[in-house]
Amino acid sequence: METTQLKICSQCKLEKSINEFHFRKDTQKYRNQCKHCISIKNKQYRDENKDKISHNKKEYARKNRDKISDYQKEYRIKNKDSIRENQKRWEINNPYARRKSYMKYVENNRELINKKYKEYSKTPQGIKARKVSWHNRSKKLRGAGGKLRAEDIAKMMENQKHRCVYCNKGIKHKYHIDHINPISKGGTNYIENIQLLCPTCNLKKSDKDPLKFANELGRLL
Ligand SMILES: [Zn+2]
Ligand SMILES: [Zn+2]
Repeated sequence: METTQLKICSQCKLEKSINEFHFRKDTQKYRNQCKHCISIKNKQYRDENKDKISHNKKEYARKNRDKISDYQKEYRIKNKDSIRENQKRWEINNPYARRKSYMKYVENNRELINKKYKEYSKTPQGIKARKVSWHNRSKKLRGAGGKLRAEDIAKMMENQKHRCVYCNKGIKHKYHIDHINPISKGGTNYIENIQLLCPTCNLKKSDKDPLKFANELGRLL
């Protein structure tokens, strides 16, 4: 039968299992104080020396900046997947905290964000993204299912060869996002119900039935 070795802690004087004591590799002996007493002592030390410890930490970080950043970089690369997974899990479990931390980030970086957004909004992707975002938020879409993404529109633009569905005019630089079956007539905001038109055709079409409108133009869909 296995017997558990016992030892008396020099601090609390209790007899405890040897597993309750730290083994010191340097001396090859168990410590005289039990784990519990040492953790209390450590905590007490931390509480009494908060300033000193934080100063030392900062000092250490300052002296070893490169070493630490190398280590962190390496750690992030090595654990890329698990970090991302943890992050995702955390975001799902903490929707409110996530929003809060995002708001805090926005607050602290407002100027940088504004600058970046301005730059981005001038790029072709930025223009497209803004247009789609306006489209998705527009009043008439309230209650209609479906949400467009900028990449859907980009793809559609390519499929239409950058031309208006009705009049064939080039619409690379100016186009309207049209609901084939109008929202007012029960159409959705899903990509299947979307086409890109030149502004003229879109304004003419307005809320008309798509087939009727095509007929008016002398075209069939
Ligand atoms: Zn003890
Ligand atoms: Zn047109």
